[in-house]
This record gives sequence, structure tokens and C-alpha cells, in this order.
Amino acid sequence: MTNSPSSNRQHTGQEQFLTILSREEALARFEAALFPRPLPTETRAVADTLGLALADDVVAPIDVPPFDRSNVDGFALRAADVADASQARPVRLALNTETIACGTVPRLPVLAGTATPIATGGPLPRGADAIIMVEHTHPAEAGVIEVRRGVAPGQFVSSAGSDMARGEVVLRAGTVIGSREIGMLAACGIAEVTVARKPRVAILSTGDELVQPGEPLPPAGIYDANGPIVSAAVTENGGEAHFLGAFPDDEAKLEQAMRDALAAHDVLILSGGTSKGAGDVSHRIIGRLGKPGIIAHGVALKPGKPLCLAVCDGKPVIILPGFPTSAMFTFHDMVVPVLRRMAGLPPRVDAQVNARIPFRIPSELGRTEFVMVSLVQGQEGLAAYATGKGSGAITSFTQADGFIRIEALADHMPAGADVSVTLFTPQVRVPDLVVIGSHCTGLDLVMGELSRGGISVRSLAVGSLGGLAAAKRGECDLAPIHLFDPKTQSYNESFLSEGLELVPGWRRMQGLVFRPGDARFEGRGAEEAVRAALADPDCMMVNRNQGAGTRILIDQLLGPARPDGYWNQPRSHNAVAAAVAQQRADWGVTIAPVAHAAGLGFIPLTEEHYDFALVSERKQRPAVQAFVAALRSPEIHAALERAGFKPAV
Ligand code: AMP
Ligand code: MG
Repeated sequence: MTNSPSSNRQHTGQEQFLTILSREEALARFEAALFPRPLPTETRAVADTLGLALADDVVAPIDVPPFDRSNVDGFALRAADVADASQARPVRLALNTETIACGTVPRLPVLAGTATPIATGGPLPRGADAIIMVEHTHPAEAGVIEVRRGVAPGQFVSSAGSDMARGEVVLRAGTVIGSREIGMLAACGIAEVTVARKPRVAILSTGDELVQPGEPLPPAGIYDANGPIVSAAVTENGGEAHFLGAFPDDEAKLEQAMRDALAAHDVLILSGGTSKGAGDVSHRIIGRLGKPGIIAHGVALKPGKPLCLAVCDGKPVIILPGFPTSAMFTFHDMVVPVLRRMAGLPPRVDAQVNARIPFRIPSELGRTEFVMVSLVQGQEGLAAYATGKGSGAITSFTQADGFIRIEALADHMPAGADVSVTLFTPQVRVPDLVVIGSHCTGLDLVMGELSRGGISVRSLAVGSLGGLAAAKRGECDLAPIHLFDPKTQSYNESFLSEGLELVPGWRRMQGLVFRPGDARFEGRGAEEAVRAALADPDCMMVNRNQGAGTRILIDQLLGPARPDGYWNQPRSHNAVAAAVAQQRADWGVTIAPVAHAAGLGFIPLTEEHYDFALVSERKQRPAVQAFVAALRSPEIHAALERAGFKPAV
């Protein structure tokens, strides 16, 4: 059943994942191969046990408090002496000639008709059975007090062992030690406890392309993100992380590194090299490291299909997929449960909230899919926008609030569906200002200004039409739009529905981009250039996504034509420029600042109005006011102009 590497399969080219297990099946097999086994334990000083799990029950070695003790400042007395005391018939008590402070051992008994001054925390003297507060007594002549109310036996006394009784189990095995537990152990005099030893986890990145942060990045180099993320996530989940560095895809060297790591650690976690592509070697080595070897290679997870789970002579060996986002999801979903169990910690509980999905999310049938989402507050609860940047994107992690799970049997999540979002943080953080719509680098200038002023901002790029829809649903404060209405020959205003008003933003020159020197475009006017492009069957375009204002412009230019490249529909101006610059396309439509930054040729088409549809109801909110003020400020105007935009007012 398992994908045994000892089979004499050919290792040339791209191997297939012969057996893809469901996540449940893979996890069950992995856990069955690892547990039960006794957890290694160690004895540590109590101060050094924060976050660790107790290995044994802790029994109180003494009574706490160790003696009967006063809870207040007052007088120790016999309750029976003052049972009948009242305003009309005060009882007089003679004071004994000692005062019991904390740490004082009483010498004199409290005989009938007497009382002893006692401080909070003082040990009760022999004969006394209650305390009266000093406020409830009246001084009489020297050495005498008057009591004008009755006192119940035991009043204001904590008796020995009332907090913890000697021999009582005060903390159960498995309890995770926090500051309160440490206080409890200290109170009964315990200086050392036995805890589950933190699993020692070796972390290794693999890939010829990897470079450690801080080093210069050579061409085709990639910074090693997995090493630091996995190390931190291991620490967060009770492991002792030892990052051993990034290793090239060299079978002999990697095998030596894996053997050394496994000898000195309880767990080995690698990342990369599991895709079964040419040059991916780590999974082939595992079979030689110990029995039973690979448990699952290929799990029906998205992202994360190439995950490889193995057990070598009792120790878990895991190869995470190379893409950092895939590595993190598989780590949290498949490795964290095992790691926490090895650390003696309870399963992780992540906070969940319910939210509505504004757009349909397609999903691959047969794989459990994780989709990261950003949350915004709508009128009827939270809305969860897919951050949708693909498994190679790392920012999707930092910009997302959490993720949703689309079950293996579903091929999509419909728009409007209610979903449960697993949060990355204990609470939802709803930003002060939410901007949803078309993205523009000019917007970053305004948002950056607000952010520096302490306002938490979020902008989600869903295109102009998506932004208007979000504004109508009350999910954002402002929707940046640039929509041309051919009927009125004007921008934006005619697209506003009731409850929305226009805040002028800036103007940006849109135009055709091409590589300088391309004779089909160089020196021509826009319409002529498009005609030349359409006339050449080898000329490849790059389009924009449905809903983008730029797309409407492109559709107008093309009319019914559908040239090669039409279906390449990226979501941003920068992607259009990159496609042309890298020769994946020959022309597209983008804005002047982006074209210039990419060193491309530019044929101006039309000045586009980039404005904001403001949700009128939200106009008075301080963050919205701050946004509008920033938009009008001379500093932002100057910054916009420097970046190639023209402020509208
Ligand atoms: P692999 O599984 O080795 O084929 O890697 C898949 C992708 O993940 C490639 O684009 C790698 O460059 C990338 N990758 C692998 N390891 C890392 C890492 N430690 N940090 C960042 N990216 C990585
Ligand atoms: Mg690799």
C-alpha cells in the first residue's frame, strides 16, 4: 500500500504519486506507526517548565496553608465569649500580651475572656477559634477591647490544608504548566517537577536554489523561507527546533546530513525535494534510514499534495512540500498533531468564526483544499475574501486572517456560502479602514500614510465591479473604481447606486505597453498599433481579469477579436508589464507609472479616472475622514505626482 522507495522503480523524470491517501487516512497511519510509545521525560526546575506538560501527577507534600491562619487584621478570640455581644450589651475582652504578625509563632493561649492582636496571615493561637476585624472593636482602657457584635466560630480563619491538603493531587499529569501552575507548585514548596521532554526536532531545507536570508541573492536564487518558518512553528508547538541549514539536492551529501540529524534528534523535518521531480532526492533516502520507512507519499491536500510522512526506527521523518505556503499548511495539518502529542501537549485549538463567502471559489475534486481568507465586517456579519495568490505565495499568509477548508468531495464553494474560518490569531482583527476594489500603486501611498498614523488598513484587490458589489453589501468603506461608461462617455459617476457617493481620486494614463523597438507598436498611434497586432498571428497579447476597468478598455479596443493570449487574464497592472517585459506576451494595457518602472514602451490611450465609491453611511467614521483628508493633503499630492499620477482635485 505504501509508496515504498525500496521498490525498484525507475527514478528518471517525473514519477507519479502512485497512492494518494486522504488526509485522514494518512494521519491515522502516521499516528499508528508512532504511538503509543512512552514519552521521554526529564526533571526540571519549576521556573524552567513554562509551556511544558507535566509527566506525573503532583501531590501536595504539605498542607497549604500549613496552619490555621487569620485572613484579616484583628483579634483572635473564642466565638463563644462574644456570642451574646450587642450594642446594648458589649463584651469586654482582656488583651494577651503578644501581637501575632506573619511569621510569629504564638506563645500564649487565648483563654476564655481574652483576645490576642493578630495580623493578616498570622497563625491562630491555641484556644482561639475565630477572628474579629479590628474595625468591629472599640478600644476600652489599656489592655482591654469592647466587642459589640457576635462572631461565628471559624470567622476569618483559613484552616490548615483548606487550600491544598497534604496528599491531594493538585496537578494532573498532562497539565500544561503556566504561571498559575508555577505559583501553585511554589506554594507547596516544590522546586522540581518531571515533565515531558521537548521533542528535539532537526529542520533541514533542500534545494540547489536556496540561499539563507542576509546573503546576496544570485540569479535564479530563492531565499530559504521554510527553514525559519518551520523552526518557529516547531517552537510554537512545543518542540525544540534545531535548524541545520539548506542542503543542495545531492543524494550522498543529503543522506549523510539526514543520518547525522536523525541520530541526534527525535524528529527530522525536511522541506522541498518531495515532488518526485528530477533532482528531488530526499524521499529516496528515507527508505535507507530505518523501518518501516515511508508511510504516505502523496496526500489529497491542496496545497500540499507531495507531502511525505515516514517513520524510521520509531522516529518521525517528514518531507514538507517546497512552497512555503504548502509547507505551512501541511505542517499545521499533519505534523502539529504528532509533534504536540510527542511533547505531551493537548491538541491545538484554533479559534473559529463564521463568515460568508462573497465569490464562488473553485476547488479540485478529490483533495481537501485550504483557502486563505481576509475577513471584513459586513452588515450581516463577517465576509471572507479568498486571498487567492496560489501555493507559492508567502504574503497570502501574512495578509490572511485565517483559512477555510473545502472538503475533498466538493468541486467549489458557492458564493454566499456560510463557512467556518479557522483563525490564525486568537481573535478577529477587524481593520479601521477597509478598501475593496481595483488596486493601484497610488493607493499604497495613501494607505501607507494612514498606517503610519496608527490606523489599521486593509485593501483587497477584486477589481472595480467586485469593489462596487462589496460596497453595496456594506463590506468596505471605500471601493476604488475606474469604470468607463460608453453611454455617458464619462468615468465612475454613473456606476454608483443609492447609498454610494464619489470621492475623486487621481488620474492615470492608460496605454498600450510593448517592448521598446517592437516595430508593430513603436511610433504608432493606439488604434493603428492594435490593428497591427491583430494582423500578426504571432503577436501575443496579455489581457486583464473580468471586472477590471482596464478590461472594459481592452474589450473596446478588440471588438469581436480574440487574439492569442486573450485568455491570459492576470489581476494586476504589474503582471501585465512583467508578461510583456519577460516576452511571455507582446502587448497589453497598463498604466504609465507601471510601464515606465518596467522599462517598457508606452502608447497613451486615455486618461483614466481612479476614484473612490464611498459608502455614505460610513462617511463620518474617523478612519474614512482620515483617508479623505490624506487624499487632499499636499504631501500625498506630491507623492502621487512623483509616482506618475495626477491628483483629481
Ligand atoms: P521542490 O519541492 O523542491 O520541487 O520545491 C518546490 C518549490 O518550492 C520550488 O519553487 C522551490 O524553489 C520552492 N522552495 C523549496 N524549498 C524552499 C524553501 N526552503 N524556501 C522557499 N522556497 C522553497
Ligand atoms: Mg527543490
